Amino acid sequence: MSTTSDLSFLESVNASFNLAAEALDLPKGLARQIRTCNAVCEMKFGVELHGGYEIFTGWRATHSEHVLPAKGGIRYAPFADQQEVEALAALMTYKCSIVNVPFAGSKGALCINPKKYSLEELEHITRRFAQELDKRGLLGPGINVPAPDMGTGQRMMSWIADEYQKLHPNEINAKACVTGKPVHFGGVQGRVEATGRGVQYGIQEFFRHPEDVSKANLSGGLEGKRIIVQGLGNVGYHAAKFLEEEDGALIHGIIERDGAIICDQGLHTEDVYQFKLEHGKLEGFPEGTFIKNGNDALELPCDILIPAAMEGVISIANADRIQAKVIAEAANGPITFDADKILLNKGIFVIPDTYLNAGGVTVSYFEWLKNLSHVRFGRMDRRFIEAQGAKIINLLDSGIEKPLDECAKAELLKGPDEITLVRSGLQDTMCEAYQEIKEMHDSNPKIRDRRTAAFASAIRKIGDIYDSMYL
Ligand code: GLU
Repeated sequence: MSTTSDLSFLESVNASFNLAAEALDLPKGLARQIRTCNAVCEMKFGVELHGGYEIFTGWRATHSEHVLPAKGGIRYAPFADQQEVEALAALMTYKCSIVNVPFAGSKGALCINPKKYSLEELEHITRRFAQELDKRGLLGPGINVPAPDMGTGQRMMSWIADEYQKLHPNEINAKACVTGKPVHFGGVQGRVEATGRGVQYGIQEFFRHPEDVSKANLSGGLEGKRIIVQGLGNVGYHAAKFLEEEDGALIHGIIERDGAIICDQGLHTEDVYQFKLEHGKLEGFPEGTFIKNGNDALELPCDILIPAAMEGVISIANADRIQAKVIAEAANGPITFDADKILLNKGIFVIPDTYLNAGGVTVSYFEWLKNLSHVRFGRMDRRFIEAQGAKIINLLDSGIEKPLDECAKAELLKGPDEITLVRSGLQDTMCEAYQEIKEMHDSNPKIRDRRTAAFASAIRKIGDIYDSMYL
């Protein structure tokens, strides 16, 4: 959490937005129109539990409606509040625009500690929340489409989809009212890993730009780079696992609620994750050194620091002591506005959240498209593409002396399945958006960092849409 002298989360988001808007030449009032949260609904509803009633408080903020549906997760957290939901909804607007996903921004939260309830109780509560959202026009494939966020997951999304289907039995696209569903219930392959996968692709893209790498006082590629990850939830776990197993990065430290594990030789993310699943904590993990005050590990020297837990963890209270060369923001809003300035002056290269964690909503977009088209990706063309591969092999084999080896043949023969298409679509999205942000940065001397460039890229695109609308 940020210290008292930092701006609040919402103020931080708006301050970053303002900085970018000032760097652009916008018609009067447009920046305000884009920045303003269009609607926030607070809901209080009773649920019959344990022979009595319990009252729950939830919110859904619709930050923008320049395209529809509005999109964004639902968070279950005991300390959720309206301001946080508004800040997160605003980030969704910019995030979608940055990665060219045609959704507006929304976010929801329910004030609840999900760990205190049984599965049946959570189902009951979630279905009631879905009814409340639906009756206020805050749920539907063309209006507002939630997804998982902190404290929620696939199971809850399938309860919401099922509840919506019951309420709208004639809606043929009902399943598209929510994303992040299990694959057997209308989900898409690769959605669970998507945010972590997007973080990996975004960091890979950074290393494909040597001028950015040297700005961060680094050299070479991802292999052997020392990484500290904060948060071994869905996003942190997948990002660390892929960077370690596929890119050869060295996981120097993992920070969790109860403390951090630091290991010079590198940790195996999967082992740490399994240990945490079994014991509910990191303390006692057989390798490395355990540090009780986990947040101290944010300040250790490393090449890449990946905050993947929550907002405001790097504030004016610790920004000065951060020694990472790159901060890759996998969480939403982990750096406060004031801390950002300190990091910039220290020469730390920040890959901003609005870009880097957009993998989740990008694959949500693919899931929504799959639901609307009622067909799995690859179903129509996989066999056709495989047949084409076979023809190419036959042609090559007949024209060359030495036939192709079996591996090359297998590659050419393989038509794309759903997971392959989802990953390639996500990778393309992350590469293209990185390029757009970089171009915005390089072409505007008033822009000093990638966060401002990312905001400016979003403002430009959303502004163009407003320009064509009659308000
Ligand atoms: N909750 C995720 C986010 O913050 C995903 C949102 C979505 O898929 O709609 O980006």
